Amino acid sequence: MTPKEVLKLIEEQNIKFVDLRFVDFFGLWQHCSYPVSMFDEDTFEDGLGFDGSSIRGWQAINNSDMLIIPDPTTAKIDPFTQVPTLIMLCKIVDPITKEPYSRDPRNIAIKATNYLKGTGIADTAFFGPEPEFFIFDDVRYACTPNESFYSFDSIEGIWNTGRDEAPNLGYKIRHKEGYFPVPPHDSLMDLRAEMALALMKLGIEVEAHHHEVASAGQVEIDIKFAPLVDQADNLMFYKYAVKNVAKLHNKVVTFMPKPMFGDNGSGLHCHQSLWKDGKPLFAGDEYAGLSELALYYIGGIIKHAKAIAAFTNPITNSYKRLVPGYEAPVNLAYSSRNRSASIRIPMYSASPKSKRIEVRFPDPSCNPYLAFTAMLMAGLDGIENKIDPGEPMDKNLYDLDPIELSNIPKMPGSLEEALDSLEKDHEFLLKGDVFTEDVISTWIAYKRQNEVAAVNMKPHPMEFMLYF
Ligand code: GLU
Ligand code: MG
Ligand code: MG
Repeated sequence: MTPKEVLKLIEEQNIKFVDLRFVDFFGLWQHCSYPVSMFDEDTFEDGLGFDGSSIRGWQAINNSDMLIIPDPTTAKIDPFTQVPTLIMLCKIVDPITKEPYSRDPRNIAIKATNYLKGTGIADTAFFGPEPEFFIFDDVRYACTPNESFYSFDSIEGIWNTGRDEAPNLGYKIRHKEGYFPVPPHDSLMDLRAEMALALMKLGIEVEAHHHEVASAGQVEIDIKFAPLVDQADNLMFYKYAVKNVAKLHNKVVTFMPKPMFGDNGSGLHCHQSLWKDGKPLFAGDEYAGLSELALYYIGGIIKHAKAIAAFTNPITNSYKRLVPGYEAPVNLAYSSRNRSASIRIPMYSASPKSKRIEVRFPDPSCNPYLAFTAMLMAGLDGIENKIDPGEPMDKNLYDLDPIELSNIPKMPGSLEEALDSLEKDHEFLLKGDVFTEDVISTWIAYKRQNEVAAVNMKPHPMEFMLYF
């Protein structure tokens, strides 16, 4: 949509407010609503003012006055407000220099796609994320789940019988058997369908929805692949939509990667491929029908995985998911067959157009703009420096003998380790001024102080069990 078309839509649909949104450093949407009388074509040039100093991680900016400039191509009618409201995503700029703000994640992602074009390697990076998430009746049931007959107590690691329920009809999903029996065992089918409809209403193409492995209400709604920035925008609308539909039904959604001890966590597998002039660049005659370029891209991701994990798996809880036995990857290897590898090459279709890689370590707590950008920059570094990804690992990685296993590099074991890796290894992210030193150091410092230290300093319930 152009600014003119947006203004026409406002008139035709009798829109009363325009809700301007931007994503903060940590992947949450922030917003402010303006009466439509504040909008004319100039607003799309001049923007509107806000105080940037109250946004987490952005305080360091010398001048707290900032401008938000709406991007007309992102306009969507909000399906959840009672008063007709139009949402638009925004660019954040310095009011004096008119420079885009370097800590704006959407700006970082836009710079990455420009950098990609500038390399001449490709013109489009497609991303197809598979978001998994949990739906709970109450946050307290994250420890005593609503669907399982027996559940793991997430703190004590013991079996219990879940919350009281009368009558208990026993249509429960057994532990780790959520993928995927029909209703009445799957009690979330209608709710997912409603979420999927909300996504479609927002113009996001849905490919499937289903229950996931964890018995305690874990689900997945898959959306079609799209270019990097559009897909990150889609994921923001996605989280907004599924949380609001859940709320309408008095339920709560969490994208926390490992809410339940002893059951599967939630991943955000990211399918990705590069295209140039309408041609797919990942299809070829190498391993699993990949091109040499795709193998180098994999080489880059594996080489930099420990560092980019600080963006793809950015919270302390992320590392409680990356443990053996729950379909989440631990080892940094690639394979066409096995889902225990960090990078899988799907073999569903022989068509070159569908040739892609699936990076399995990211989780849905990430800021999608930063996570997609970090993966793209790592992959491009692999292509630019012809980084060999090593041999594929077609065995079940969970079953390797200890010596074989010790030769395979691992994902970081904690956020602390990922941040240390990012501190040492981030030159590849600075290319094209995509991430800046300021962004990297602010991210590391904020995460160390507000998350790693904050969690480490607190006595944990498990410590009481072990040591009291
Ligand atoms: N939930 C698993 C994970 O944490 C993935 C299950 C699947 O293969 O879809 O990555
Ligand atoms: Mg899944
Ligand atoms: Mg997958």
